[in-house]
Amino acid sequence: MKEDRDYGAEQTELAEGEYRMGITTTDELVQAVEEWGREKRIDNPIMQFAKLNEEVGEIAHELTRGRIHSAEIVDAIGDTAVTLIILADILGTDLHYCLGQAWWQIKDRTGHTENGSFVKDNG
Ligand SMILES: [Mg+2]
Repeated sequence: MKEDRDYGAEQTELAEGEYRMGITTTDELVQAVEEWGREKRIDNPIMQFAKLNEEVGEIAHELTRGRIHSAEIVDAIGDTAVTLIILADILGTDLHYCLGQAWWQIKDRTGHTENGSFVKDNG
C-alpha cells in the first residue's frame, strides 16, 4: 500500500491481516489467490472473463466519479487482480509469466507521452 495515500482503516486492517497470515510478498499473494480459486473449483474461463470485466467496470465506475484515492478503487483494483490471476490459472499459465512476457515486449519500446498516456512509435 502506498504510504502517501489514505485508503481508510478497513484497507489497513486487510493489509495487516495478510501479514498475520504470513503472506508478505506479491508472489505469496498470487499463490494464495490461485489456491483459493482451485479450492472453490473456479474453472470456467468464459465466466471468469465475465467477472474480470465486471471488476474492470467497477474501476471505471470509481474513476468516472472522480474517486481516484478511495477505498472503493483499491477494492476494485484488487478484485480485478484476483479475477485475472484466477483466469490465468484456469488457462494453465500464471500472472508472473504473463507479466514477464509483457515486460520484455515493452521495456525498450520507444514513444512519447501525450495527456499522461504513452503513445508508442510506429514500426
Ligand atoms: Mg468488486
